[in-house]
Amino acid sequence: MPKHKPKLGQNFLVDDNARHRIADALGEISQRTVLEIGPGKGAITDILAGRAGNLIAIELDNELAPALAARYAGRENFRVVHQDILETDLASLIPPGETADVIGNLPYYITSDILLHLFAAAGHLNRAVVMMQREVAERIAATPGHREYGLLSATSQLYCRVENLFTLPPAAFSPPPEVHSTVLRFHFAPRFVGLGIDDPVAFDRFLKQSFAQKRKTLSNNLRSAGYESTLLAAVWPAEISPQARAEALTLEQMALLFRALR
Ligand code: SAM
Repeated sequence: MPKHKPKLGQNFLVDDNARHRIADALGEISQRTVLEIGPGKGAITDILAGRAGNLIAIELDNELAPALAARYAGRENFRVVHQDILETDLASLIPPGETADVIGNLPYYITSDILLHLFAAAGHLNRAVVMMQREVAERIAATPGHREYGLLSATSQLYCRVENLFTLPPAAFSPPPEVHSTVLRFHFAPRFVGLGIDDPVAFDRFLKQSFAQKRKTLSNNLRSAGYESTLLAAVWPAEISPQARAEALTLEQMALLFRALR
């Protein structure tokens, strides 16, 4: 029989040392706006509420969100936004002209979607300390040419510098998940300008096309996406092997090819 999966990815942190390490990883926040994704029963929230200049906790659960709001009723620096993080306009929660820091023991079933949502708001964010399934974290932090490197790694590293902080065993949570969990720290610093990319949306699309099928070479993936063979042959940069897979290319090489094809 399949194991019971908790609803909304609810594996609550019960290791006291771990919740302090996660909160500490955000650094000095007394003057900062902090967005917490999925505060749950408040394991991390309780530490941050005493530290953050302004704490906004975004929780979807119909019981947990009001319970948390009631616990902190009257606290001026804290509020609960009871809605889906993926439908939350992050920029609208942040004072104009400022950036926010993000923290969260993420609901693992939507980790990639949440990260893409954060990258879409990159201009409004400074750093993020987020916990996710270990295997996903390893993919995000992998470097080109390694087995785990793929679209999620490339996209993450396009928007952020990524640090792998530490890993927790299932026993740190209740109920325990079936996987280990890793905390990553993202420093938001989109690289489009440095890579000479004038159209970020087009480059995002180009990355998706390049990584579309792992078993195919990069040029075959691009042909499938509609690029003409003659164009590819004519502009293909000498420093990139014609047989290369997207997984082997640095972002600099990806950008070089993208610019050559424009
Ligand atoms: N922060 C708490 C902790 O560390 O114990 C809870 C972490 S639990 C892994 C994930 C939390 O995200 C749960 O409280 C869950 O209800 C909430 N959640 C799940 N899906 C969500 C969504 N789409 N938007 C906002 N919160 C969500």
